[in-house]
Amino acid sequence: MAAIAIVAYQFLPDAGWWTTIWQVTLGWAAAGAVVLGARRQARGDRTPWWFFAAGIFSNVAGIAVAHVSEAWWGLVDLPTPADPFFLMLYPAFAIGLALLIRRRDEWRNWTALVDATTITTGFGLLAWVYVIDPVNVAAQMSRLAHATQVAYPIGDLLLIAMMTRLLRGGGNRGPSLWWTSGALVALLIGDSAWVVMDNMGTTGLMLEDSPWVGRLVESVFLTAFCCVAVAALDPSAARLAQPAAERSARLGPGLLALLTGASLIAPGLLAVQLHRGSVDNGWSIVIGSTALFLLVVARMAGLIREVERQARQVRELARSDELTGLPNRRAWNDELPRALERARRDHEPVAVAIVDLDHFKRFNDAYGHPAGDRLLKAASAAWHGTLRKVDLIARYGGEEFVVLLPGADAAHGHEALTRMLGATPQGQTFSAGLAVWDGEETSDELLQRADRALYAAKEHGRNRIEMPAAA
Ligand code: GH3
Ligand code: MG
Ligand code: MG
Repeated sequence: MAAIAIVAYQFLPDAGWWTTIWQVTLGWAAAGAVVLGARRQARGDRTPWWFFAAGIFSNVAGIAVAHVSEAWWGLVDLPTPADPFFLMLYPAFAIGLALLIRRRDEWRNWTALVDATTITTGFGLLAWVYVIDPVNVAAQMSRLAHATQVAYPIGDLLLIAMMTRLLRGGGNRGPSLWWTSGALVALLIGDSAWVVMDNMGTTGLMLEDSPWVGRLVESVFLTAFCCVAVAALDPSAARLAQPAAERSARLGPGLLALLTGASLIAPGLLAVQLHRGSVDNGWSIVIGSTALFLLVVARMAGLIREVERQARQVRELARSDELTGLPNRRAWNDELPRALERARRDHEPVAVAIVDLDHFKRFNDAYGHPAGDRLLKAASAAWHGTLRKVDLIARYGGEEFVVLLPGADAAHGHEALTRMLGATPQGQTFSAGLAVWDGEETSDELLQRADRALYAAKEHGRNRIEMPAAA
């Protein structure tokens, strides 16, 4: 329906009053729809929508004020009484967006912040060179007029910053988010259209005065307002303010292209000015490109740090057993030769043991596999608790564990394993083969001796610790 109304707007009679009333009606209807949508949300989720509605209401009121002040008092020079109404849209939307972002994920989402700053800096430089700076140069304007004219592009930049931050951050995605973004894009397109026309000189003035073009641009704003209304009324609006399920969105091709484009704005501007034969904004470009370089470096550093963190995580995962959390066989195979090397250097003894639960198959059969898993976990924790900090216990496979006891001779090793045996939960027992390093043998040979002792322990009736017979 809103679409029909906007299309119909193109064909309205040229009488100024008609178009104004049409715009105001449609715009305020959109604001009303946003209010309606807001009332459907949970109490705490409504505030951003109040701000959006207020922004639209005020901006649309500006249309009426502009018309009245022009028709009755002939006020067309900047700043017109309508400008404050028009401008109110920016802070209102910015606050609404900020509230949304705050609810969706924490502000200190650095990557999202860096991306938003990069894009805003790029477009900011563009706005500075083509809009803000020329306005400052045009000295025939009053200070207030300057400020008013500059306020629009600055408001746009604010919206660009908030929008990229919103889209880059975590949080629920859905139709409502896309309608909101669409509305912001439409606003930016509308504002840019005015700027481009202002910069085109006489052709621009002609275009601006042609009722068709003016109406087309005004329709873009109306479309933006209607998009916000649709966003507010869409069922997915309820999820818009919900906290992020997953963290930031991925660095997809679209975002990558946008970041690249934003970073290339600085050299692009320089190229354009060199081509024209005079670099008028050299310092602005230097400052802008420096900022962009630093932001890209910050982004890169963030990514590298993230990759390193994940690599560390993967390494840890690869070295630990999923069920019990103990080091796994891989970690053990790394650790044992090192321990023997240390023992050789320090002239210390070192003992290893292989531990195997007794009749674990029977336990599984009696209580079920999950109960068997729980026993493995509980036993691991209990055994670990009886050992010293320097000792190492690893899951070797199935219900087999290996223990490394640095500094332990046969007597100490036996003591440690006896403590472990006593700590085994649920009345279960294990058999263990314990071997003290002879100072010469390889880790494989040492383990083999422990394994033979384990075999003997099973032979001799289980629930015991055996040592290899002296060679
Ligand atoms: P023994 O006293 O001779 O060691 O008897 P056992 O039943 O413990 O020995 P066996 O090697 O015949 O059986 C080991 C059983 O351990 C077989 C397997 O179902 C069970 N098992 C191995 N890994 C796991 C596991 O991760 N979870 C559970 N629940 N059971 C496991
Ligand atoms: Mg076994
Ligand atoms: Mg067993």
